[in-house]
Amino acid sequence: MGKPTGYLEYRRVENPFRAELDRLRDYNDLHEALPTQLRHIQASRCMGCGVPFCQSHYGCPLHNLIPEWNDLLCRGREREALARLIKTASFPEFTGRVCPALCEKACNLSTEGASTNRDNELYLIEEGFRRGWIAPKPPARRSGKRVAVIGSGPSGLAAADRLNRMGHSVVVIERADRPGGLLTYGIPNMKLPKEIVARRIRFMEAEGVQFLLNTHADPELLDEFDATILCGGARRARRLNVPGEEMGGVCLAVDFLTENTKALLERRAPTISAHGKRVIIVGGGDTGNDCVGTCLRQGCADLIELEMMPAAPRLRANDNPWPEWPRTLRTDYGQLECAQVFGRDPRLFETTILRLHPNGSGDIERATIARLKRQPDGKLAPIMDTAREVGCELLIIAAGFLGCEAETADAFEVKRTPRGYPETLNQSHQIRDRLFTAGDFRTGQSLVVRAIADGRACADEVNVYLMKK
Ligand SMILES: Cc1cc2nc3c(=O)[nH]c(=O)nc-3n(C[C@H](O)[C@H](O)[C@H](O)COP(=O)(O)OP(=O)(O)OC[C@H]3O[C@@H](n4cnc5c(N)ncnc54)[C@H](O)[C@@H]3O)c2cc1C
Repeated sequence: MGKPTGYLEYRRVENPFRAELDRLRDYNDLHEALPTQLRHIQASRCMGCGVPFCQSHYGCPLHNLIPEWNDLLCRGREREALARLIKTASFPEFTGRVCPALCEKACNLSTEGASTNRDNELYLIEEGFRRGWIAPKPPARRSGKRVAVIGSGPSGLAAADRLNRMGHSVVVIERADRPGGLLTYGIPNMKLPKEIVARRIRFMEAEGVQFLLNTHADPELLDEFDATILCGGARRARRLNVPGEEMGGVCLAVDFLTENTKALLERRAPTISAHGKRVIIVGGGDTGNDCVGTCLRQGCADLIELEMMPAAPRLRANDNPWPEWPRTLRTDYGQLECAQVFGRDPRLFETTILRLHPNGSGDIERATIARLKRQPDGKLAPIMDTAREVGCELLIIAAGFLGCEAETADAFEVKRTPRGYPETLNQSHQIRDRLFTAGDFRTGQSLVVRAIADGRACADEVNVYLMKK
């Protein structure tokens, strides 16, 4: 505990957001960094708790040594703090930007203003890169074992990184034209600038990891490599199941976000655009919010976001005590930006789509929406006399994900549980001899930090398997 009275003397200050109307003009980082001196002060607010819930299973899935590196950071011993951080965290530059910071919700100070662990982590890793404290270090010796990792999202990258450092030769196979999974094609640039992902890929390549892009994984890999890890994500999107879903102007959130990022990186106009259109986004979660922020930057004419569920309470309910993740109403950056542009929160809660109506060319022109009510049997049903038509030239489906894609799972003869998750041996990461899995492919859609933790845990299992052979 760098300063025993830090949490009493200083209030929590996060990295500030850039002003809404300013940041809406570009896709650059949403936040600005605090100066170093203020960062040290923020680290001094960490209480170094005897029982640090931040690193327990309620908090950080990586079990980051948060009180230890906050203490070192507060004393200005930044290089040592970084060394403690990267003992458990594979990619702090990703989690420092996009993690919802479970550790801060579990912090003993959370009701008074938790310590700013995520911003502190980001500061340490960026200082590390800037000051050359971390540099690629290929392993001194190779084990002679070869591992194929299918998918280059955070779980695949974490597994590849760890196995490579253990001395195994790793090839990452990715069907997309750029590596990173949802870090590249999913999470928008303003939340995670793509040069940050590219920097880590270059770092891993310099340490000896090989990336094969534009390549679909083939089951023959199982014979070619000593172990193969399926890290293909949970891309099977939930559909609306309303007539007309296939018409022009209706698309899936990840397709929309991917095309926008590709266009940004290739300096061209996106082929799917909200520019000048009235947009409906179906889904009030994080993915829906990223679509809100992207549509606003593209210059949409109007925007609503439909959410089936009622708005969460403003305060924790009695059955949701600290240190659990608070199930309370959150208003994210896109929704705040929408309030600036259109003077209102875009979300309509307990509302769904009933029908889509095409124009003369077969593209979407209007949609019928209606309020929902929970029935005695627990199901949600539309209240028909609330049905109304709204104009819509672009409808984006951000209604969640249903698990791993059947094509990859079937190609590798992976049996699935009734809920669609791969069946593994004794709930480990191993599917059968030579075949393993990690990340969203194994667990269903989750978080970057959980995918990284799962990739690391899988790498440890694969290492034991390889060394026993
Ligand atoms: C729009 C959006 C925004 C999000 N924002 C956040 C956020 O802010 N914070 C957060 O913590 N989490 C966020 N998430 C969740 C997070 O991105 C995922 O949980 C995480 O990326 C999962 O990592 P993964 O490695 O398991 O899979 P993915 O990131 O999905 O990567 C899987 C990769 O496997 C490749 N692949 C699949 N099949 C094959 C095959 N047969 N051959 C070759 N390659 C294949 C895919 O192309 C892909 O690149 C977001 C998710 C979405 C959709």
